[in-house]
Amino acid sequence: MTVIICDICKQPIATIDRKTVHAPITGDQLHSPMPKAGVPALIPDYVDWVNMRCVRCHKRPFINDYILTTDKFEKIELKKKSAPKPKERGPKSGK
Ligand SMILES: [Zn+2]
Repeated sequence: MTVIICDICKQPIATIDRKTVHAPITGDQLHSPMPKAGVPALIPDYVDWVNMRCVRCHKRPFINDYILTTDKFEKIELKKKSAPKPKERGPKSGK
């Protein structure tokens, strides 16, 4: 788990699994900032990127295509998850 900070106020607000984190970042990718201390996740699972707010500064915590970690402000680039193939629209091909 990697601790990440708010882009605005630079306070630790969550941990992420850097193997699975992807754009757009959503609440279900963000876990307790201090899991060993039993602190619950600060950002609820259901929150999407648009509605996400930092619990400390009340701004949107991630405004760029990367997130910052507490480890020397390392940047983790948020890549879009390769989306499943879109379903074809229109009339079904009659096979
Ligand atoms: Zn903040």
